[in-house]
Amino acid sequence: MAARIFKGAEYLVTESSKDDVFTPEDFSDEQRQIGQMTEQFVLNEVMPLREEIEHQQFQHVVKLMKKCGELGLLMIDAPEEYGGLELDKATSMLAAEKISASGSFSVAYSAHTGIGTLPLVYYGTEPQKEKYLGKLISGEWIAAYCLTEPDSGSDALGAKAYATLSEDGRYYLLNGTKQFTTNGAIADLYTLFAKVDKEQFTAFLVERSTEGLSVGPEEKKLGIKGSSTTQIILDNARVPVENVLGEIGKGHKIAFNVLNVGRFKLGAAVTGAAKNALEEGIRYANMRKQFGRPIASFGAIKEKIADLTAEIYAAESLIYRLAGLIDDRLATIPKETANYYDAYQRGIEEYAIECAIAKVFCSEVLADVVDEVVQIHGGYGFVQEYPAERFYRDERINRIFEGTNEINRMLIPGILLTRAMKGEIPLQREAMKAFESLMTPSFEELDDSVPFAAEKALIADLKQAFLVVAGTGAQKFREKIKEEQEVLLAIADVAINIFAVESCVLRAEKMLPKLSEAKKGTVVAAVKTFSYAAAEKTANAARKAAYYIEEGDPLTMMLGGIRRFTKYDATGLLQAKRALANAAIEAERYVF
Ligand SMILES: Cc1cc2nc3c(=O)[nH]c(=O)nc-3n(C[C@H](O)[C@H](O)[C@H](O)COP(=O)(O)OP(=O)(O)OC[C@H]3O[C@@H](n4cnc5c(N)ncnc54)[C@H](O)[C@@H]3O)c2cc1C
Repeated sequence: MAARIFKGAEYLVTESSKDDVFTPEDFSDEQRQIGQMTEQFVLNEVMPLREEIEHQQFQHVVKLMKKCGELGLLMIDAPEEYGGLELDKATSMLAAEKISASGSFSVAYSAHTGIGTLPLVYYGTEPQKEKYLGKLISGEWIAAYCLTEPDSGSDALGAKAYATLSEDGRYYLLNGTKQFTTNGAIADLYTLFAKVDKEQFTAFLVERSTEGLSVGPEEKKLGIKGSSTTQIILDNARVPVENVLGEIGKGHKIAFNVLNVGRFKLGAAVTGAAKNALEEGIRYANMRKQFGRPIASFGAIKEKIADLTAEIYAAESLIYRLAGLIDDRLATIPKETANYYDAYQRGIEEYAIECAIAKVFCSEVLADVVDEVVQIHGGYGFVQEYPAERFYRDERINRIFEGTNEINRMLIPGILLTRAMKGEIPLQREAMKAFESLMTPSFEELDDSVPFAAEKALIADLKQAFLVVAGTGAQKFREKIKEEQEVLLAIADVAINIFAVESCVLRAEKMLPKLSEAKKGTVVAAVKTFSYAAAEKTANAARKAAYYIEEGDPLTMMLGGIRRFTKYDATGLLQAKRALANAAIEAERYVF
């Protein structure tokens, strides 16, 4: 449990300490065992079938899902009274991270355990849970989630599928087409969204055997070819009234809250995939010789390995910090609370901003990793014989589903400003202070005896930069800021980078005393490498926001402030990168 419980987005307006963050080094023995078991399952059971799965022999996916059920991997988030394990989010993120090495299978697993099963856990009635939950957590049945339609993707509430009550009042007759359903062809139960009387957006639990439901052909995809993606076609599909999930007209709550979970789990899964891809890249770099030496010995390759390692370290720090935030918050809700899952959902929703950050940041880290891993492979990265090619194709979807990265980015300042207007986050007050400090020169000296003093000063400054741009944007555009998407995207990038660099530095500070001198050097090198990149990216995004928002003297003043608040002395950066790369090359894997 952390020293104090933080509110969502509070990191932007307050200082956090190392004792406030959960890190992978804090895993319990039980959590580690679950992680190792998942790793072994992927290695021994899934990998031998990977080619067949890629060729859409989905019977293997169905069998492996049952095996996951036997191992308890489908019941991590399910309540004990229905046979679940009800473990914390850190454990379910660790399982998601470890399963990701299985490629397409992990997409089927995530859809089943996340968006497929959780709506039932959170919103199901007792009889609904009695009927379906046991089947889902044992792997006897597979679950899917049908929100998207051909004409409504990001605009999910624009769905056209509709439900009409039958004359005898016993059924809803569902009509419409759901698009891009993961597990479409193998699922037995669909959480499906349709509008009652074409108006009230509602969730339904729809069995595969429902009369009037049919499954479309497999989509021919760029990547994750071994996961089923189909349309679900509803032609007067007869769904019993008792299969309405939650309240009629309240389907949006289910759809969006479950996406928060989908997003942080995706963050964990892509971080695992990034480690896996990097390991492949390092192995190849050690093996491949050009000009009489392994390509891993060239500075150009070392720089890539160092940058990617540092990015993954930040992604990993970020997702487990988020797991800790959510777990601490959820632990404050007594099990006997009336409407427990309502409170539970609100607990997760509190961190909707951090969930969106995890989705965007970690999926973009994976994008960087797979791109550079192809590059490290040269021409061999471009052919199917090497896994780099599949990593590259499989990565792309992560920036599209669970809300595109644009939609997720815009959510970040959108939610923040709404909360600020409600007085939940003192954004304007802190922004005023940031403006004041902009006018007053700072002569504070860094205390070198404090670990990561330069990085901590940077983080405090970056928050000032954030407050200056977000505060100016909010003041200038007011409610109309929602229409200034370019501004929102730039502000989001500042917020994302701050959460990432702060998570990375606080984790490093927490783990440092427990490490040998050699390991300490590697951690310090990763922190320097990432802090430099984050400072540069934040400066770019903040500058862009300033140009979008202001002009004339106020612009000049803002740019001056941004220059000051994004300054980072990265002396020794080259040596740090080389040391980090050497450690990774020697270990032939992601080193942390
Ligand atoms: C392999 C795969 C599996 C999937 N699995 C599932 C699943 O299991 N269940 C499910 O329900 N869905 C699933 N999806 C659907 C996925 O979530 C959607 O594709 C995604 O939400 C984007 O919707 P869209 O494809 O209609 O794109 P659009 O919404 O049309 O977006 C197109 C582009 O416009 C941008 N855009 C859209 N609206 C805005 C806006 N307001 N402001 C700025 N930019 C905007 C987007 O960011 C994007 O770049 C899956 C998709 C794929 C490809």
